[in-house]
Amino acid sequence: MMDRVMIDCRKYPSDNNCQVTIAGTHDEVLEIAAWHDVTAHGHVDGPELRAMIEKDIVAA
Ligand SMILES: [Zn+2]
Repeated sequence: MMDRVMIDCRKYPSDNNCQVTIAGTHDEVLEIAAWHDVTAHGHVDGPELRAMIEKDIVAA
């Protein structure tokens, strides 16, 4: 069984007061968080965004 991890958008200030939490395997969380940051927060997907996301991933 793969370790489950999560990322919690509530920890990070955002203009839309985002309440989203994403949980799953590391790769799932990374993919979905990148998509979420692009669609909900106007970020640009790429190595920099993914490095930032990876730093925010914690054990679930
Ligand atoms: Zn968010």
